[in-house]
Amino acid sequence: MNLIADLLDLILPEHCAGCGAAPVLLCDACALPLQGPARPARTAFEGLPPPWTVTAYEGPLRAILAAYKEHGRTALAVPLGAALATAVQAALTPHHLSSPNTPGAHLGHDPPSLVWVPSRRGATRRRGHDTLRGLADVAAQRLRTAGVPVTPVDALRQRVRVADQAALTAAERTANLEGALDVTPHAELAGRTVVLVDDVVTTGASLTEAARALREAGADLLGTATIAATPRRRGSSKRGGARAGWFW
Ligand SMILES: [Zn+2]
Repeated sequence: MNLIADLLDLILPEHCAGCGAAPVLLCDACALPLQGPARPARTAFEGLPPPWTVTAYEGPLRAILAAYKEHGRTALAVPLGAALATAVQAALTPHHLSSPNTPGAHLGHDPPSLVWVPSRRGATRRRGHDTLRGLADVAAQRLRTAGVPVTPVDALRQRVRVADQAALTAAERTANLEGALDVTPHAELAGRTVVLVDDVVTTGASLTEAARALREAGADLLGTATIAATPRRRGSSKRGGARAGWFW
C-alpha cells in the first residue's frame, strides 16, 4: 500500500471508483451495497458451508474491485475490508465468537485465524500489492475493534501455476485448481480454528480447493466469507456454464 497515494485518493480523488461521477473515493450510492448485512450464498458447494456474503458481484462493485485490485486504488481496502468484516462476523456467529462478552467461548483460547485465498503467482508483483491480504488486514482490524479477536494468517500458497479462471466453466475451474494450493510450513494451523475469505465467490472452486488444503493441514474450518457472490444470470443453464455456480 502506498500511503501518500492513498491519502491523495482520499483527499483529492479524481472520481468515484464505482460510477466515475462524484469526486470522492466512493460515492454514497456505490458504497451502499457494501454496508448491508451478510447472508449465506444461495448455492452450496460439495463439502463446504455456503459462504457468507454481503452483496452481488454486479454493477458498480465490479468497477470498484477492479479499481482496487488492478488500478492501484488501494485506499478502497477500507470500505471493501469493512464489508468483508461483516461477512466474517456472520460466519463466526454460530460459533459464539462474535459477542464481546464471550471472547473465544467454546473454542479454546486462540482467536480464529483469518486465511485468504492467495492470488495467482505473479499477480501480486504485477499489481504492486497483495490484494486479499489488504482486505483481510482491514477486516481483522475492524473485528478486533468490535471485540471479535481474529488473526490474519498468510497461510496458503500456490503450488503450481494455474490457468486464468475467467474463461473456464465451473467443472473446468475445479479441475484447474485441484491440488493447486498448500499450507505454508510456518503457518501451523493444526488444531486451529480458521475462517476462509476471498473477495468474490464465482463457482466455489477456489474456496473448495483452499478448504481442502486447510483441512489437510489439520485446521478446523469454521466457515467461509466473501464480499460478494456472482448473481444468477437470466438464462444460465442448470448444468453450469462459465458464469453459473454461486448465486447471490
Ligand atoms: Zn459512485
